[in-house]
Amino acid sequence: MVMGDVTTGTDVLVIGGGPGGYVAAIRAAQRDLDVTLVEKDAYGGTCLNHGCIPSKALIHAADVAHEAGTAEDLGIHADPAVDAVALADWKDGVVDQLTGGVEKLCKANGVTLIEGTAAFSGEHTARIAHGGDGQGMESVEFEHAIVATGSRPIEIPNFPYAEETVWSSRDALGADAVPDRLVVVGAGYIGMELSTTFAKLGADVTVVEMLDDVLPTYEDDVKRVVRSRAEELGIEFSFGEGASDLREVDGTGIEVVTETEDGEESVYGADRVLVAVGREPVTDTLELDAAGLEPGSDGFLETDVQGRTDLDHVFAVGDVAGDPMLAHAASREGIVAAEAIAGEPAALDAQAVPSAVFTDPEIGTVGLTEAEAAAEGFDPVVGEMPLRASGRALTMNETDGFVRIVADEPSGYVLGGQVVAPEASELIAEIGLAIEMGATLADVAGTIHTHPTLSEAVMEAAENAMGQAIHTLNR
Ligand SMILES: Cc1cc2nc3c(=O)[nH]c(=O)nc-3n(C[C@H](O)[C@H](O)[C@H](O)COP(=O)(O)OP(=O)(O)OC[C@H]3O[C@@H](n4cnc5c(N)ncnc54)[C@H](O)[C@@H]3O)c2cc1C
Repeated sequence: MVMGDVTTGTDVLVIGGGPGGYVAAIRAAQRDLDVTLVEKDAYGGTCLNHGCIPSKALIHAADVAHEAGTAEDLGIHADPAVDAVALADWKDGVVDQLTGGVEKLCKANGVTLIEGTAAFSGEHTARIAHGGDGQGMESVEFEHAIVATGSRPIEIPNFPYAEETVWSSRDALGADAVPDRLVVVGAGYIGMELSTTFAKLGADVTVVEMLDDVLPTYEDDVKRVVRSRAEELGIEFSFGEGASDLREVDGTGIEVVTETEDGEESVYGADRVLVAVGREPVTDTLELDAAGLEPGSDGFLETDVQGRTDLDHVFAVGDVAGDPMLAHAASREGIVAAEAIAGEPAALDAQAVPSAVFTDPEIGTVGLTEAEAAAEGFDPVVGEMPLRASGRALTMNETDGFVRIVADEPSGYVLGGQVVAPEASELIAEIGLAIEMGATLADVAGTIHTHPTLSEAVMEAAENAMGQAIHTLNR
C-alpha cells in the first residue's frame, strides 16, 4: 500500500523507541496525551537490542563458564565447553522477551506505534518512510516532538565496520562464534566489558588504547583492580598506541597496525578487531533544518533541564542529547520531557546519576569523588572498606576491590561513592539513594544491614569515615 497522502495528527510525536523514547511515550500517554512513537529498527533501541541487555547476558554466561573452570580452590573441578550458537540463542531469547514487552507496554498504554524512519518536514510535521518495497511514506502533524534517536558507534579511518573483520559492539554482541584472536581498539567501558567477556569465553584478547590506562574517567585505584584482574585473565594491553591500519592476510586472518605519537608502528595478528572508541549522536538523518533546529558542532542536541531544545515544542532525550550516555539517564530524561509537555513543573534535578561498568570485578560510581568534592568547595572525608575484610566477599572467593564513601566532613552528608566489587552495579544504588535523600554518614552507618552481605561494606565504609569502624582499622 502506498501511503504518501496519509496525514495523521498527534499531540506528541516520539522519534526513536529506545529507553529514552519508549519511556517518554508511555509517560506522555499516562498523562492522557495522544502519543505516536516511530521506530525504524527494533523497540527497545540500542540498550535492549545491541547494548545493555545482550552485553549483560553474555557477561553473565562468560562468568558462569569462567567460574566453573576456575573453581579448583573450592574443590570443584570442571572443564566447561562453550556452545557459542546455543549461547547466542539464549541471549537473543532474553532480548526478544524484553523488546516484545516494550511493544506490548506501549500499546497497552494507548501509544500508537509506527514502524519507519522519521524526518522533520516542517516545524510541526514529520515524514515517515516505511521500510520495504512499495510501503511508501506518511506524514504526521504534531504539537510536540521528542527526539530520542540515540547514538551509533564511531568508525575510525581504515577500519570500516564489516562483520567478517571489523566488529562494532553491535556485531560483537550479535556474533555466534568466539574468535581465537580478538584485538579490541579502545579501553573505555564498552571495550573493557567486551574484552573481559571474550577472554572468559576463550579468545586471546589484546587491547590497544591510545591513552596510558584503561577507563579514563575513573580513579587510579579503581582502574588498578580492574586492569590487573583483566591481565590475570590473559588480556594483553598496549597503551599509547592508536589503531592506524588494517591488513588482510591470506588465509590467516587480519593484522592490526598501530602507531604511537612518535610514529612507532606495531602489528597485531587477529581474527577479528572490535572497534570501541565511542559513540556519536544520530541526528544526520532527521532533517533538523526543516524544523528549524541545528545540532551543536559535535552533532548532539542541546537541551535545558526539561529536555527542551531551542524550539519550545521540540524536546531531545537520551544519547542524542549528550552525556551521560546511559540508559537510565535516557529514561529519566524521557519522563521529565513527557511531564513537561503535559504542563507539569518537571525538571532534571538528580543529585547524582550512577554508572556501572560490568567488568570483573564490576565498578559502580555515583556522585563526587574525593577530588571532585574538594574542587567543589566541600571539606571531604572518605571511608573505605576493603573487600578482603568482608565475610561475604570471602565466602564468594571474591576479595579484590573496595567500597568507598565520600561525605562532607562538617555536615556528614553523603556526596559520592566508588565501589569495585562483585555486584557493584547493585551496591552503588544504596549510596545513590543516600545522596538523593540527603542522608548522612550516621544514617548509613546506623542502618542495620543483613549479615553476611556485600552491602554491609557500605555501612562499614560509612563507619570508617566516622572513625568508628569495627572490622577495619580506622583512619
Ligand atoms: C555495548 C553497549 C553496552 C551498553 N551497556 C549499558 C549499560 O550497561 N547501562 C547503561 O545504562 N547503558 C548502557 N549502554 C548505553 C545505552 O545503550 C544507551 O545510553 C541507551 O540505549 C540510550 O537510549 P536512547 O533511547 O537515547 O537511544 P537508543 O537506545 O540508541 O534508541 C534510539 C532508537 O531510535 C531509533 N531511531 C533512530 N533514528 C530514527 C529515525 N529517524 N526514525 C525512527 N527511529 C529512529 C533507533 O533505531 C533506536 O532504536 C550500552 C551501550 C552499548 C553500545
